[in-house]
Amino acid sequence: IMCVPAHDDRDFEFAKKFGLPIVQVIAKDGKEIENMTEAYTEASGVMINSGDWNGMESAVLKQEAPHMIEEKGFGHKTVNYKLRDWVFSRQRYWGEPIPIIHCPKCGCVPVPEDQLPLRLPDVESYQPTGTGESPLAAIDEWVNTTCPVCGAPAKRETNTMPQWAGSSWYFLRYVDSHNDEELVSREKADKYLPVDMYIGGVEHAVLHLLYSRFYTKFLCDIGAIDFDEPFKKLFNQGMITGKNGIKMSKSKGNVVSPDDLVRDYGCDSLRLYELFVGPPELDAEWDDRGIEGVSRFLNRFWNLVMDNKDKNVEPTREMLRERHKLVYDIEQRFNQFSLNTVISGFMEHNNKLIEIAKKEGGIDKETLKTFVILLAPFAPHIGEELWQQLGGTDTVFHAQWPEFDEEAMKEDEIEVAVQVNGKTRTVISVAADIAKEDAIAAGKAAVADKLTGNIVKEIYVPGRIINIVCK
Ligand SMILES: [Zn+2]
Repeated sequence: IMCVPAHDDRDFEFAKKFGLPIVQVIAKDGKEIENMTEAYTEASGVMINSGDWNGMESAVLKQEAPHMIEEKGFGHKTVNYKLRDWVFSRQRYWGEPIPIIHCPKCGCVPVPEDQLPLRLPDVESYQPTGTGESPLAAIDEWVNTTCPVCGAPAKRETNTMPQWAGSSWYFLRYVDSHNDEELVSREKADKYLPVDMYIGGVEHAVLHLLYSRFYTKFLCDIGAIDFDEPFKKLFNQGMITGKNGIKMSKSKGNVVSPDDLVRDYGCDSLRLYELFVGPPELDAEWDDRGIEGVSRFLNRFWNLVMDNKDKNVEPTREMLRERHKLVYDIEQRFNQFSLNTVISGFMEHNNKLIEIAKKEGGIDKETLKTFVILLAPFAPHIGEELWQQLGGTDTVFHAQWPEFDEEAMKEDEIEVAVQVNGKTRTVISVAADIAKEDAIAAGKAAVADKLTGNIVKEIYVPGRIINIVCK
């Protein structure tokens, strides 16, 4: 029984009415209220009338109390879940039949285990009965059965289970769906479960996800599985809306048909654009115009592969560096689930490769193959086709995922003279493609002891000179 008459309005009223003692235990600055006329409902204060705990901040005690109680050995910390009452029956044909038989003598009798699973009858019509009863109620040869206990004529339960019945645990079964001995073998469960990442809309948070956890905890308790949380990570994706953030709906006439976009741009372009439209966790307004850019990228990459697939270009240092940087960038972004930046990464690296190809007269095949393997999960059709074009025999999805080499990613170093007022003072090594600000900062650090007065100008001649002008 929990009762806090000094700190809860309803408990206070109850205690007043029945003449129960009202003991204040949390007080502002530790000062007890004399003759309380209403409950003290501030969430924080100092403990009073609490024995050893007097003088403690209530917020601190809240944290510490479970440990203190465990130490004293009269209780332990636990988490309570509150699941609302769950109506677990529907008057529909499509749903798992509830394996219960109603016997006039024995009452509700479970269908014996060796007769499970109970299957839906195979019928022509599963229309509603019109009486409010389940469609199954109209199928006499299915409904009428005998009682497994006493053998008397009995009837099957005709309600079916709700959609949640299956959606709460299907992911456990997917892992080992042909196993007719057990829910899932220990070996497969160890390998694949719990689910690494659950991707779903936030609207599932209260029902589906809570039910899944409830099922999982139950199955763990009875020893069918050995973990009690079904999902390691939850990812709530945003919603794609129409213009001005308005939810797409037929009645509002703002639904975008994917069929039209597939017809005009192909489904790989559509897939890529859906990923590119924004961070996946945020809502985004749909705007067709952006798909042009994605489609152009795929075309340019297609042309790059087709132009170079038969050239047998030897990879230069720059091509190798670009290849490993590509793998690194895509993998980092992919792992962070930053799918829109994965797509922009492909675009940037494609531009860079086109630039190198122009300069060098081509691109080596291994770099193109690497690009195709990375791209295929996002644009599977064009990925598979280009893989074949590059001489791949098996499907691209059986190809080895590429690895990056940090050494190969390193920029070439160049030597740059550092001048003060036009006079060379030292020479430093910097990355060949160093940005202007970084070059100047490195140069200033190298000649810090030679700078006098105020710096009035900073010049970087790329690849050659850093000049700091002082006055
Ligand atoms: Zn019976």
